[in-house]
Amino acid sequence: MGSGARVYHRRMADIPRIELNDGNSIPQLGYGVFQVPPEETERHVSRALEIGYRHIDTAAIYGNEEGVGRAIASSGIPRDELFITTKLWNDRHEGEEPRAATEESLERLGLEQVDLYLVHWPTPRRSNHVQAWTSLVGLRDAGLARSIGVSNFEPEHLDDILAATGVVPAVNQVELHPAHGQRAVKEWCARHGARVEAWGPLGQGKYDLFGEPAVAEAAAAHGITPAQAVIRWHLQHGHIVFPKSVREERLRENLEVFDFALDDAEVAAIDALDPLDGTGRVGSSPYDVH
Ligand code: NAD
Repeated sequence: MGSGARVYHRRMADIPRIELNDGNSIPQLGYGVFQVPPEETERHVSRALEIGYRHIDTAAIYGNEEGVGRAIASSGIPRDELFITTKLWNDRHEGEEPRAATEESLERLGLEQVDLYLVHWPTPRRSNHVQAWTSLVGLRDAGLARSIGVSNFEPEHLDDILAATGVVPAVNQVELHPAHGQRAVKEWCARHGARVEAWGPLGQGKYDLFGEPAVAEAAAAHGITPAQAVIRWHLQHGHIVFPKSVREERLRENLEVFDFALDDAEVAAIDALDPLDGTGRVGSSPYDVH
């Protein structure tokens, strides 16, 4: 290790990649850093990279892009092995703001191009999600983002941006876990070729998914933890996930999900946890964020 090169326990190739509709691909499992304190972010992201994570999900509003950037810079990992997502915040949808916001994020991340740039929320009361999306198409064409997508968009917002630009987002990142199945959003994405990213994949610890018999029984049957059962449920549904933890043993645990599979009955039992009426949501509704 005297050369400064670090030893990585898991090669990137071990994590499956999902093809996006623009020809790029994304590691299906990553590390999300919502609520990771800025002063601790470099340390936690560095550890995640050492453990084998290559996909990091941050956002301008998280206030920790600089820490992500420092961890990337000191990792020594080739740029093309990393996949970095960040997001445009709600008050910067109009005019020259999206470009300025992107340049500021790139500066903080120490990157020339982000791998995936998302409109963070549709902010329906401001009626400017189409403007934001149109700007992202231009930013992608200018090379500031390799892929572009949206977050927290409902089907009506997705219809609006598609009608205005003809460009289907590469992903829609939404709250998605066994108690909040997002059926309508998933149908829209499947019909149009957008991938679904699951935020709050473990219910943010607010919903006791791990105590649900369907989850606990699947975990016991495979000798795994309830968190691993839920992550595996996401992966088998084709969701892109990036669970958050600041604990090393959980970071490792959340990555150790590729040497077993849930059977169809176990997946169906976990599917059945969705109340279908939206009551399983743990975060904000897209109609309430502006
Ligand atoms: P999550 O479902 O990943 O829950 C995180 C919590 O789960 C942790 O704080 C920890 O308490 C617990 N946990 C993690 N691993 C565990 C394990 N192995 N065993 C037991 N408990 C464990 O929720 P999240 O952080 O909100 O979502 C993940 C990522 O999604 C975020 O970090 C962020 O990148 C993204 N996100 C995006 C939006 C958006 O609006 N686009 C909103 C929220 C989160």
